Amino acid sequence: MLSSYCVARSRVVTVAPSRPTARLEQFSRHLEPKPFLELNTPFSTERSARFVDEQGNVIRPKKQPAPQKIVEETKPQKVASDLKPHKIFEDIKNLSETPERPRKMSSQPEHPALLIPGPIEFDDAVLQAMGHFSESHVGQPFVNVFGDVLANLRKLFQTTDPASQPFVISGSGTLGWDQVAANLSEPGDEVLVLHTGYFADSFADCFETYGVKATQLKAPIGERPSLEEVEAALKEKKYKLLTVTHVDTSTGVLSEIQALSELVHRVSPDTLVVVDGVCSVGSEEIRFDDWKLDVVLTASQKGIGCPAGLSILMVSGRAIETFKARKTRPTSYFGSWKNWLPIMQNYEAKKPSYFATPSPQLVRALDTSLKQILSKPVEEYFAAHKAASQKVKKAVADLGLKQLASKPENQANGMTAIYLPEGIAPPQVLPSLVKKGVIFAGGLHKEIATKYIRFGHMGVSVTDPKRPDITKAIESLKESLGEVGYKN
Ligand SMILES: *Cc1c(COP(=O)(O)O)cnc(C)c1O
Repeated sequence: MLSSYCVARSRVVTVAPSRPTARLEQFSRHLEPKPFLELNTPFSTERSARFVDEQGNVIRPKKQPAPQKIVEETKPQKVASDLKPHKIFEDIKNLSETPERPRKMSSQPEHPALLIPGPIEFDDAVLQAMGHFSESHVGQPFVNVFGDVLANLRKLFQTTDPASQPFVISGSGTLGWDQVAANLSEPGDEVLVLHTGYFADSFADCFETYGVKATQLKAPIGERPSLEEVEAALKEKKYKLLTVTHVDTSTGVLSEIQALSELVHRVSPDTLVVVDGVCSVGSEEIRFDDWKLDVVLTASQKGIGCPAGLSILMVSGRAIETFKARKTRPTSYFGSWKNWLPIMQNYEAKKPSYFATPSPQLVRALDTSLKQILSKPVEEYFAAHKAASQKVKKAVADLGLKQLASKPENQANGMTAIYLPEGIAPPQVLPSLVKKGVIFAGGLHKEIATKYIRFGHMGVSVTDPKRPDITKAIESLKESLGEVGYKN
């Protein structure tokens, strides 16, 4: 727990005299018990960080160049084969060996590299797809694109079972929780929620909203519940669903999905295995069929590298059967699979169909990002994330800093949650990082929010060798800590 936070005791750590700051009041919101019906929006430090420097002075944003006109003509969008996927898979390690890379990372206006655990940096072609002229959501060209998206999601999730069902619905990752709670559980059902950080509390809260009883199995901060603990919990009670956060974005803890699913199938074979993959799909390997998963839910803006606004799910045939066998009607209207299932099946068969209007522009952006990811074997995409992650984790250790996830097997590949040296708080570091062109996120886990920062390394920032993002972020972190008096 907190022991993993302490900076090695033998090391002399010098810090700038700590200054009481009004900003800390804002963090303390994390620490206060949540009143009923409080807005469920954790105040995160990145917001203040962007506008206030380490002395508490307001940073005036530099005048931005006039926004670029993205689409000037109404030519049909390029198809995937025309898009030149960036040379994704050049060895990421080369990045560190190449001292100076061109500052300009893309044709986008200059901006600090957004290295938070989602939204992430987007590729030019993905953003350009968003500028597609308006088209009918039941017109054949769009329906064809939607069909391709659903087929490509099967590839990304590594499922060839025709009974698996992809869903793409307007909304954010959170809508995936609502879909699971409203379609797969019924009021009064029991579910087991494995807790590795903030997001499990919210998923449990979502179940409770639908009258479903959520039991949380919690691990100390930076750890995950052991398989033995999960086994004991499953033997104690029959659970309709078990949920696990693949990567908890508040702690950077990675869960062991394959072993966990094997365990559930052995000990409690009727329990459906639901994976919150919002911060893992794209950056972590997921083998939907081989691992016998029932739901993997995600969003567009993290490892998939598409602007926010889409809730994306892969659902097993077994889970669809569970849905069809409900005794009560789904407890959501917009999120009901009764409404969406035929629509998704029609789209995949490239047949126009309507329940509620999808966003053609977002779906086109998703189509572009999926085609880029799948332009090579997915294993290579995961390997690129692993290599970048190893590089970040080594740099963090070389700086004498600790991660929340102290054990290598618990560490995510798409992000790193880093304890700051004792006496240094996020508001002293994040603003100076912004000045250097790097945006990190502050802490999110309510018990320790003021003690750590989060570094997201997903998507084009790690796969596009033209982008200096990761190397620059590591150097900037070193410099920023030096500026506030940290000596390693
Ligand atoms: C970001 C995130 C969510 C919530 O997704 P939104 O798109 O913000 O609604 C849920 N779970 C995890 C693990 C996440 O990282």
